[in-house]
Amino acid sequence: MEMDAPRRACAFLDRDGVLIEDTGYPHRIEEVRWVPGVMAALRRLNAAGLAVCIVTNQAGVARGYYDEAAVGRLHHWMAAEAKAAGALLNGFAYCPFHEKAEAERYRRASPRRKPGAGMIEDWLAHFPLRREGSFLIGDRETDMQAAAAAGIPGHLFPGDNLDAFVAAILKEH
Ligand SMILES: [Mg+2]
Repeated sequence: MEMDAPRRACAFLDRDGVLIEDTGYPHRIEEVRWVPGVMAALRRLNAAGLAVCIVTNQAGVARGYYDEAAVGRLHHWMAAEAKAAGALLNGFAYCPFHEKAEAERYRRASPRRKPGAGMIEDWLAHFPLRREGSFLIGDRETDMQAAAAAGIPGHLFPGDNLDAFVAAILKEH
């Protein structure tokens, strides 16, 4: 995004349980299952002029289930898959910290970890995005709490078809 671009509203999306199925710390590309309607939903958000930014807790890193390189590989693959489907994911933010992490470097109560609003606030502070008109889609109460803490609407995705869910949000947006 260019520095002098007008500020855009953003759809902040949780990852596991919204874009891909939450199979319990998903991290292997070959085991990823996209949620039904996901690419159509992303194209719909793109067409509406919204930026699309991922905000995902990845305590699996803190717990030692996988490393940050694995998170990066998965996100790179997700962005490429979206691009191949004509959809744009503008960016990925993740929080690898947990206050009970095995490894000391990840043992921290991070304001970026949802229900904290840190990841959302960082996107808003460092990219040409505006809070007004932005919203979050998540599948857990902690996602809704993060949205509320950032002062944006939170929409709880029940896990059916993401495109139908996004269409309904945009209709009343
Ligand atoms: Mg989730």
